[in-house]
Amino acid sequence: MTAAIGAFERMDGRLAVGGIDVERLAARVGSTPFFAYDRALVTQRVAEVRAVLPERVHLHYAVKANPMPALLQHLSGLVDGFDVASGIELRNALDTPTPASRIGFAGPGKSEAEVCQAVASGVVLEVESERELVVARDASVATGIAARVALRVNPDFTVRGSGMRLGGGPQQFGIDSERVPTALATLSDYGLDFQGFHMFAGSQNLRHADICEAQRRTVELAGRLGDAAPGPVRYLNLGGGFGIPYTDRDQPLDLGPIGENLHELMAGAVPKLLPQAQIVVELGRYLVGEAGVYITRVVDRKSSRCKTFLVVDGGMHHQLAASGNFGQVIRRNFPIAVANRIDAEPAGPVTVVGCLCTPLDLLGDNVELPKAGIGDLIALFQAGAYGLTASPTAFLSHPAPLEVVV
Ligand SMILES: *Cc1c(COP(=O)(O)O)cnc(C)c1O
Repeated sequence: MTAAIGAFERMDGRLAVGGIDVERLAARVGSTPFFAYDRALVTQRVAEVRAVLPERVHLHYAVKANPMPALLQHLSGLVDGFDVASGIELRNALDTPTPASRIGFAGPGKSEAEVCQAVASGVVLEVESERELVVARDASVATGIAARVALRVNPDFTVRGSGMRLGGGPQQFGIDSERVPTALATLSDYGLDFQGFHMFAGSQNLRHADICEAQRRTVELAGRLGDAAPGPVRYLNLGGGFGIPYTDRDQPLDLGPIGENLHELMAGAVPKLLPQAQIVVELGRYLVGEAGVYITRVVDRKSSRCKTFLVVDGGMHHQLAASGNFGQVIRRNFPIAVANRIDAEPAGPVTVVGCLCTPLDLLGDNVELPKAGIGDLIALFQAGAYGLTASPTAFLSHPAPLEVVV
């Protein structure tokens, strides 16, 4: 059917996750619905990225894409560091063997307690505003530890091709680049330990040329801003934004040219403009999105005026993105399959809906699936990132799903 299904193994006509067929996995988990993350697919994906990245570029994992602790433990052994965006994500990252010095804490609206946590743990605080610099100063005084800070910069350019823009123009993220020199001037007065810069122009980009351009312009801008810094730039987080295909209209991202571009930067602009900087690329969905699948069981099959519906025990409260209500402008079907009849021939279009009492709870609209009925298992792919934790689990008061790493 689609490439997404191809990434998973098949076993005796059934989908397999981590080498276990889906019926057996469902029995092992104990109930449906559930999310399953394939450890080997995550490992493989990190290796693919590593193969194109220059050796000296660090690869970070953006925890908000999927913060499940067991997955973080696995990723801790694969990536160089973590990027977190809340005090709880920070605690979960610190529970792994990844050293605090390899963790960055970004995100607007950090509380005083979160800033204090960051300073005390020794992670890089990615400062999002002038106010946060003052909070960092106070936390440094209170703890007697000079906060390690990087300024998150809202660049003076935008990146085309992003599904979600997080940089350029007016933004709640970062300090506008034209105000960065003023912010840098306060760092020494505040007794803060300047590390460098962080820029993140946009998410879910499938166009390598746009990502390359953003990386080049980020290095140039950081080089210019670094002239006004109280010390050398020792850290530059280039962001990420590598997208994954969600629908049959999406072409997978071509990593090759991104790797070449980074090799060029590491041979030219970086040693020239930022000779002491550790370059970091931070990826969330690209590392885990395609390694996850949401499994839900059919509880009803009904026809209504010539249309066939499969009603499942899960829904948009667990996997909002597949319903089209998480950032999509036009709803398109995510890859979907009958997991326990993965090789069977399509038997006509059905509409797969969740168990919530709202027409928004649509998981597959007129999809070609093999004949399926009560008890069959439906798999929704591309569920490894922004799945469970990006969904309104309390909506309609159903039980929360389980998550397993296999
Ligand atoms: C969300 C986020 C990411 C990860 O984005 P993906 O699209 O999942 O790769 C990276 N960096 C920052 C600062 C973020 O907020």
